[in-house]
Parts: sequence; C-alpha cells; structure tokens
Amino acid sequence: MVSKNKIEMEKPVVELDGDEMTRVMWKWVKDELLLPYIDLKTEYYDLHVKHRDETNDQVTIQAAEAIKRWGVGIKCATITPNAERVKEYNLKKEWPSPNATIRKILDGTLFRAPIILNNIVPAVRFWKKPIVVARHAFGDIYDGVGMRFDGPGEAEIIFRYDDSREIRSKLPKIKGAGVLQTIYNIDSSIQSFARASMKYALMNKLDLWFGAKDTISKVYDARFKEIFNSVYENEFKEEFEKNGISYNYYLIDDAVARVVRSEGGFLWACKNYDGDVFSDFVSTAFVGTLALMTSELFSPEGYYLSEAAHGTVQRHYYRYIKGEKVSTNPTALIFAWTRGLKRRGEMDSNDDLIKFSENLERAVKITIENDLIMTQDVARVSDTKNPVIVDTQEFIKAVKKNLEKLIK
Ligand code: NAP
Ligand code: MG
Repeated sequence: MVSKNKIEMEKPVVELDGDEMTRVMWKWVKDELLLPYIDLKTEYYDLHVKHRDETNDQVTIQAAEAIKRWGVGIKCATITPNAERVKEYNLKKEWPSPNATIRKILDGTLFRAPIILNNIVPAVRFWKKPIVVARHAFGDIYDGVGMRFDGPGEAEIIFRYDDSREIRSKLPKIKGAGVLQTIYNIDSSIQSFARASMKYALMNKLDLWFGAKDTISKVYDARFKEIFNSVYENEFKEEFEKNGISYNYYLIDDAVARVVRSEGGFLWACKNYDGDVFSDFVSTAFVGTLALMTSELFSPEGYYLSEAAHGTVQRHYYRYIKGEKVSTNPTALIFAWTRGLKRRGEMDSNDDLIKFSENLERAVKITIENDLIMTQDVARVSDTKNPVIVDTQEFIKAVKKNLEKLIK
C-alpha cells in the first residue's frame, strides 16, 4: 500500500509500551497490521519495567497525564514488580502496579468483555451474547483495615469529621477470639461508577444490571443502590428509554443466578470485590482464555484506556528469547488497538479510522472462525476438529491477509 492511501489521524493516541512477550507482539502488531494502513500518530511512553525504574516511575504518571490531554490511551501489558522481579531486572524497588497508578489518576471504571467466536462454546450453554463486567475500582476491602483479637470484647466504629464532630456505631458483643474489618467508600466515587456504567450501557446499547446486598447491608449496600437509582432517575432514564435499554437492580445472589440463566447481552456493574471475582468467572466460563478478553477503562471526564486483559505472558517470553517459536495469542492486544483507535475515530469524527478498526476485528474473527487458523490457547478451548495451529507471527500474517481482502 502506498503511503498516500494511508488513513490520516488528526490527533494522537497515547501509546503505553510494556514488557516481555506482549512487548514483542506489540511491535509485530504495529508493523504488520497498523503502520502499513494508518498514518499512525502516537505519543509514546515506554513503560518497560527498566524504564519505569530509571525514571522512578515518573513515566507512568506522565503517561496517565498524557491520556488526560489526548483522551485516548492504548496500553501493553506491564510487569508489576515483586521481590523476584526486583532481582531479575535489578530494580531500585517494587514499583506499584502501573494499572493501579493510572486508574487512580484517571478515576476510571474498568469494563471487561469477552471476544466471542462461533467455534468456542461457552461453558454456560445459554450464553449467546457478550456479558460485559464493569468493576468499581475504588474502596471497599481494597482500602480497608483489619485486625485480629484473641479474646472476647466489644468493638465500635468512630467516624471523626474534619471539624471534630463524631458519630459512632457499635458491633454486637463479640464472644471470643476472631477478626474484624472496616471498609468504606465515598459517594462521589459511587456516583462516578454509576455514571460510567450508564454511559457505557448507552454507548453500546446494552441493558444495565447492578447487584448488591441491601437487604443485609442496610447502610452500606443500600447507599450504592440509592446512588445508582438517583443517577439513573435524574440523568439517564430518558436516554435509556429512548434507546430501548433498561436499568435493573437485583440482589447480588439473584443477579448471579440470572446471569447464568441469561443469554447474555448486558452490562453487569459490580462492586469492587464482586467485580474482581465475577470478571474472572465470566471470562473463563465464556471463552476459557484471557487472550480473548478486552479491558477498557472509562473515566467520568471521558478519558479512555484500552488494553488486553492478560499479563506479559512471561513463560512464553522466556521460551521466545531462547529462540523457540511461540504460539502466543495476539488477539486481545490487537483488540486493545482497535478499540482505542475506534474511540479516537469517534472523538474526531474519523469514519475511516472507525471502519478500519472494525475491519481489523472482523479479520481476526474470520481467521479463527472461517480459516480455522488459531494459536494454541484457542485450539485448546475450541470445538474445531482440525484446527491449523500456528505461531504468533503466522497468525498475524493470516489476519493481515483477511484484512487486505476486507479493505481491498
Ligand atoms: P499472564 O501474563 O496473563 O499469563 C498467565 C498464563 O495465561 C500464561 O502463562 C499463558 O498460559 C496464558 N496466557 C495469557 N495470555 C496469553 C496469550 N496472549 N496467549 C496465550 N496464552 C496466554 O499472567 P502472569 O503470568 O500471572 O503474569 C505475568 C506478568 O504480567 C506479571 O509480571 C504480572 O505482574 C503482569 N500482569 C500485567 C497485567 C497488566 O499489565 N494488565 C495483568 C496481569 C498480569 P500457558 O503458559 O499455560 O500457555
Ligand atoms: Mg480477579
């Protein structure tokens, strides 16, 4: 393709490069599937663990700030260093998870959705359409405190306002040794979560479900329910009705039962812990491999970040650097790019970019569903009798062939 036929971009996307096998695939995807067709404008931030270390993790913060400037970020998977990684890469310290840092700066809600293929039958046989899980990424047990005690006693929560007023609440008499935990959340964060979920539901024309346990948690979960209701009534009801979608509140256990009985096709907003658990449950039951999961972050201000749901695929990388061919699946990485570019296209009214993103996604699906060409992880969970199992680069080549056919 000659360069004058390339799709133009008005504004850049923020590109966050990463680590290990995903970093290797990142370059292959760009070189083969993007750069020949798009005059790709990116503001590049290198989140390689060594570069984060050299910049005292400032590069992660700068990347998040850049997303605020340009609206759209596309992220490769990154190592969250633990003690082993500090040794392996000779790091100054265990830097925090880049995702957590970015999420804190953007105050976003995470949306995870399976990439559905007709040759992978979900473990739950009723599921036909995607179930997107939205996870509230702030507070509850992720920001709580706990204690152990070794005999009977009593406990009381005291909240002291900045102006020194106090409110108190006593637990029932505690009869023996045990554990105790206190958690919290804040109204503004719950509101952001409700808004982000409702915006996403509208954008994708999906019904919205929200589950909590307000019958038991009469103050805490009841507040979530109340805030969701009021954000819906005051800001979204009309738009939802116009678009023929609905908002439904269920008790969380009822919600789980309904999810399993459903045919899918809705957004399930989950409190922090529920989202942690049920996003893994839904993805595994739906497609059986993390490499077929997209992950998108929306902030209340409209900032957006897309990435693959999986990590850096460390074990494959070690084999790759030894010179072995690896069959690592680049699908979720490709979709991180298509979703981010599509979002860029929507923000800039760039129809060519939107169309290209849709074609690239279609090319991936045709490769797996029609050509039966797939990576090892997909072959393992698919019903295809005689799949053509290929390595990563062969897979990308096959996708490219289909992409060229689609865009002629
Ligand atoms: P992982 O990279 O997601 O890989 C776990 C296993 O899942 C792999 O060993 C592989 O199984 C399979 N897998 C994941 N992605 C695959 C793909 N694209 N194609 C084929 N198989 C795939 O998780 P991890 O090994 O626990 O973590 C590795 C590093 O990633 C860690 O340093 C962690 O901090 C980081 N991480 C980053 C993010 C992020 O940036 N969002 C998220 C999670 C983890 P087989 O080996 O059995 O083939
Ligand atoms: Mg989890």
